[in-house]
Amino acid sequence: MELDKMDENDWKYHGEGNKSLVVSHVQHPRVLRLLKYPAEDSENPPQEVVKLPLEFVRQLSIKVQHQRPAWRCDKVMDIYSGCALCLPNLTSPALHQPTHTPPLCIEIKPKCGFLPSPKHVSKDIKTKVCRYCMHQHYKVANGKWKRRSFYCPLDLFSGNRQRMHFAIKHLIEEPQNNFKVFKGGQCIYSSKEGSDESPDMNSLLHHLRPYFLHANNRMNSHVTCKAVLNDFIQVLVNALLSSGGGDGGVVADRQAEGRSFCEASIFNKERIRHGSRGLPNDSVLFRILQTQMLDTLDIEGLYPLYRQVEQHLQDFPKERTRLQIEGPYNEAFLEKLQKCPAEDDGSVEYAVAKVHQYRVAMTAKDCSIMVALVPSSEEEEDNESLSSQRQLRDFRPPAFSYSASILDLDPKPFDSIPRQLRLDQKIVTCYLRTGGALP
Ligand code: ATP
Ligand code: MG
Ligand code: ZN
Ligand code: MG
Repeated sequence: MELDKMDENDWKYHGEGNKSLVVSHVQHPRVLRLLKYPAEDSENPPQEVVKLPLEFVRQLSIKVQHQRPAWRCDKVMDIYSGCALCLPNLTSPALHQPTHTPPLCIEIKPKCGFLPSPKHVSKDIKTKVCRYCMHQHYKVANGKWKRRSFYCPLDLFSGNRQRMHFAIKHLIEEPQNNFKVFKGGQCIYSSKEGSDESPDMNSLLHHLRPYFLHANNRMNSHVTCKAVLNDFIQVLVNALLSSGGGDGGVVADRQAEGRSFCEASIFNKERIRHGSRGLPNDSVLFRILQTQMLDTLDIEGLYPLYRQVEQHLQDFPKERTRLQIEGPYNEAFLEKLQKCPAEDDGSVEYAVAKVHQYRVAMTAKDCSIMVALVPSSEEEEDNESLSSQRQLRDFRPPAFSYSASILDLDPKPFDSIPRQLRLDQKIVTCYLRTGGALP
């Protein structure tokens, strides 16, 4: 990328979150992730930071403005710092050859996949109903979404195929900001916040159909919508359970701890035909869950430690740097996380380590997974000429090669912790007050 020859016409609006706006290059598999508020002076600019010409950024912000959803426009793109992240475009994987069927990329923001331990929470309901499900009631009560989603992260993180299937089905039905589908780099399925309309499932199925015609029923070209949807979900479950190499070992599930079922999930436990084997320990979901579970104290147990650190920093302002409160998020930071004493010995080191762990867990509760599905090439298939083999294959699920990446891994600021506590209280109060707590 030649920074002095940047032209806004080479870039188009791709999407945005709460914090950043993303544009993708029209030819190369690259995106620019621009902040939506003036960048803070940061001691640790990530590797991918680029400094863009301000005139380019200004033109770009004008160009994309009309494509932005209205409900995101309460924040404006940062046009003063010129700083952006230049990242590979995860919705157009490089392994894809332009002449073939475009890849499908599915973005899932899974949110928190476990229940907190009863030791640290003041309200019993928090050990029964997961944060996501409670938050749904709060969001609907506050008009952020018109309808509640019946997705429950505990089902997705269960490692049980039936529960995962069920979870993804509900993500598709009510995607909110937890589910998006891209085809050849273009978003073809997502939610509109505050909108009455459901996203167009028929149009999604229309896009998906060609990818799944090869599946169960090639002879019978009349593949039902239901079959297409089922095959699609099946492939996604497989991709999420697949390992990133290694032995793919299975870990003991959390059922033993009684923390893997959410009472608000409408999945009927009695339907489980096969017990959960837990997540393979090198799957993307397992790695995210392990990181989320660094939050061992819940915000309620963590908050007093946060206050201790805050007090310490008031007494000794110079400690801020040594304790890496604002990063840098490097090896030394990781070491602080890992060397945390098992018990609270009253030291500021313990308190800081727990606060750091909590912040890293928050990042993992807020990240997204991008699953890329690349259809296996037609030529490969045609090499098999025996009709008996062909027939056998007709009953196999469609062949895709898949990969999963994690995106949106911003560090969560130290001072966001009091806000987390207040939000937690609001969500729980709202849940107990509204119909949520009723059977
Ligand atoms: P959030 O509100 O979820 O914290 P955010 O403001 O931190 O979001 P991102 O989630 O990183 O921003 O980016 C916004 C959207 O842009 C993503 O949901 C995704 O659809 C798209 N996006 C971000 N990074 C990439 C990438 N490397 N490749 C392709 N698409 C991307
Ligand atoms: Mg995001
Ligand atoms: Zn739940
Ligand atoms: Mg983010």
